Amino acid sequence: MVRAGEPVSGVTIATSLERALAALAVDPAPTVLAGGTDLMVELNLGHRRVASVVTVNRVPELRTWRHDAAARTLFLGAGITYDEISRDPIATLAPALAQAARTVGSPQIRHAATIGGNLGTASPAGDGLPVLAALEATVHLAAATGTRDVPFADFCTGPKRTVRRPDELIVGVTVPELDGFQGYTKVGTRNAMVISIAGACLVTDRVSRRIRIALGSVGPTVLRAPEAEALAAAGVDWDAGRATDDLVREFGRTVGAAARPIDDHRATAAYRRHAVEVLAGRLLRRAFPND
Ligand SMILES: Cc1cc2nc3c(=O)[nH]c(=O)nc-3n(C[C@H](O)[C@H](O)[C@H](O)COP(=O)(O)OP(=O)(O)OC[C@H]3O[C@@H](n4cnc5c(N)ncnc54)[C@H](O)[C@@H]3O)c2cc1C
Repeated sequence: MVRAGEPVSGVTIATSLERALAALAVDPAPTVLAGGTDLMVELNLGHRRVASVVTVNRVPELRTWRHDAAARTLFLGAGITYDEISRDPIATLAPALAQAARTVGSPQIRHAATIGGNLGTASPAGDGLPVLAALEATVHLAAATGTRDVPFADFCTGPKRTVRRPDELIVGVTVPELDGFQGYTKVGTRNAMVISIAGACLVTDRVSRRIRIALGSVGPTVLRAPEAEALAAAGVDWDAGRATDDLVREFGRTVGAAARPIDDHRATAAYRRHAVEVLAGRLLRRAFPND
């Protein structure tokens, strides 16, 4: 039996959720290591130093996923990899997340990289994050002292900053199963192994007649574009599955206006804004193919 607060030093290889949470209950809490595709790069480059580490890739509770057909929800444990997300059965249940997963790094990276690690890093360029934002996912956090659920909209507080406390583990995320188109697309400097210059996820729900779009790499955190969402939901023909060219153009412009991009070594702010306008228009056209 592992007691919360038991001293842990160096590397703890957690093989249960209880053990991982007990390790994290020590002050200062060790750093969580999942696939290591972000953390090991930072350590190797000397951008980050850690006193101790708890590895979580052998925690069975984080390696599970569940589809609740009655509630129409999908729970993904934090340790589910992008490779698993990119394939069925998860790909059919969360198509945009699968599309985003297929754009992450290379096959080797996707086999190690986890959705929990993407959330833990909380880069505005993280490819999974616009999808979680558009799906209005819930992030599940646990500590030895208790659990809490955080709406994705409240999870990221700035570039690489989140509401997660050092003693908390990201256990997983829950996303709804929607009835309608879902798509993720991104622009980078090349086609593979690339951090996005701009990314966008659009999801539609024919039942609630809602359209949601979230943007990556064009702000300090992933951004939603509520004005554009309302414009599209009111403007498309839900029954015929149509959107006019004018609406698609106006939607793109309104999404671009919601972006808060910066100039950096990868792209100018102006290019990023233009890119996100184009991506948004393309996604709406894919969702409503007929004019
Ligand atoms: C060559 C290369 C290409 C890449 N390409 C892409 C790309 O195209 N798109 C993209 O989005 N990312 C990319 N990445 C970044 C990285 O693969 C992803 O962010 C990945 O999801 C990180 O997951 P991980 O399991 O490896 O996290 P780790 O490196 O293990 O951890 C990342 C951070 O999250 C924390 N953490 C991990 N799991 C948990 C948990 N359960 N609870 C609390 N905190 C946790 C860690 O402490 C750390 O701070 C790339 C990385 C490399 C090296």
